[in-house]
Amino acid sequence: MNVLLINPNTYKSPPVPPIGLECIAPCLENEGHRAEIVDLCFSENLYKDIDNAMVSFSPDIVGITVRNVETVLYHTNEFFLDEIKDMVNHVKSNYGLKVILGGTGVLTNPEGILDYLNADFAIAGPGEDEINTLLRNIQSSENTKKIYQGKYRLNSSCPRKPFKVDYKKYFDAGGIAGFETHKGCSSSCVYCLEANSRVSFKNVEDVIEEIKTFVVSGYNHFHLCDSEFNESIEYSDEFCTALKNEGLDIKWAMYMKPGNFNRKLFKLLKNTGVYLITLTVDSWQKCPEYWSDVERFIFSAKLWGIKTAVDFLTGFPYEDEDKVLEYLDLLRRVQPDSVGVNTYIRLYKSLRITQIIMNDEKLKNNLLGNVDDKTFVKPVFYNHINSEKLSELIKGDTLFRIEGLEKGVNYSRIITEAIPQ
Ligand code: SF4
Repeated sequence: MNVLLINPNTYKSPPVPPIGLECIAPCLENEGHRAEIVDLCFSENLYKDIDNAMVSFSPDIVGITVRNVETVLYHTNEFFLDEIKDMVNHVKSNYGLKVILGGTGVLTNPEGILDYLNADFAIAGPGEDEINTLLRNIQSSENTKKIYQGKYRLNSSCPRKPFKVDYKKYFDAGGIAGFETHKGCSSSCVYCLEANSRVSFKNVEDVIEEIKTFVVSGYNHFHLCDSEFNESIEYSDEFCTALKNEGLDIKWAMYMKPGNFNRKLFKLLKNTGVYLITLTVDSWQKCPEYWSDVERFIFSAKLWGIKTAVDFLTGFPYEDEDKVLEYLDLLRRVQPDSVGVNTYIRLYKSLRITQIIMNDEKLKNNLLGNVDDKTFVKPVFYNHINSEKLSELIKGDTLFRIEGLEKGVNYSRIITEAIPQ
């Protein structure tokens, strides 16, 4: 079959290449299908570009990636699904083709997203295998279901092929090349859709090959796409050792979580070109060891000359201001390079935090946004420390940035300082 893969993501703060589609395309080709990517990120006319691909490639079916439902920040929220819905509609009504949805955004509520976008099928999770299963079912008319649960494939025989998209445009607009080492997370953060998800790691050699593809083309700056790099200290060690042995001259940044680090790992990170770590920190029911891990982590990064940006989510149910002040003081004391503070918590239907809030009438008073949407597809936030109150708690300290008041991500301001574009 001819499968047209559309990246509808036109958000550019920063622009993010569609690496999920770059992983799916070779898997389709391996099964004898033809795959083409239409990347609309820099498109000046979305529908003209879609129509041109329809004519030149003549697809039998269309896949659309839903990377994000919205920007996840309360104040400057941009909701992407209505634009994607129009594209689904365009493809179905003008060309009579079925539409498959994939991408991280689908995980927020597979049934709800499929329904909202009026698409035909959805793959929730990594789609490398499931897309072929789905196409086989369609071809043999055996298909009985609309939602497929994606599985991650280790030692893939069809690794990602970068450069099916025009990377120069991304780099020119301040985007950064990305790669990932694994999917899933064993931590249990109550506000995160990845909590307690199955973890599977990619073959180290495959990831190094991806990086080399970029390096030989003259690009050496990367941001890791993993939710948190240090899911396994053993794998992190193995990956960094292999990267170091390649002797590639790269710079890279990543997300990490407190815990799962040691002196050897920091040394390897430094020796492989890591210059910035965004540390994910939250204040939901944490033990004292958690906060000493946060302190030790930031001190270790400083020791090795690696910058740290802390993404701090706080203002959880039943937390009082004194507690939040205490955490802010701790962060002020250890002085990472930047702290982005967010007190507006995006709720999704399947999250534990959502259940906790919906079971307490008093907490429901702190809901904002589309509170009548029981599917939580449209943005609903929990907030009990608003931005004005947070400004008071921060006391004008420029170390802290209140997330959501302006576009962009916390780490961007450090990248801009460290790596002039
Ligand atoms: S550590 Fe990060 S990815 Fe894992 S559950 Fe927590 S927030 Fe999610």
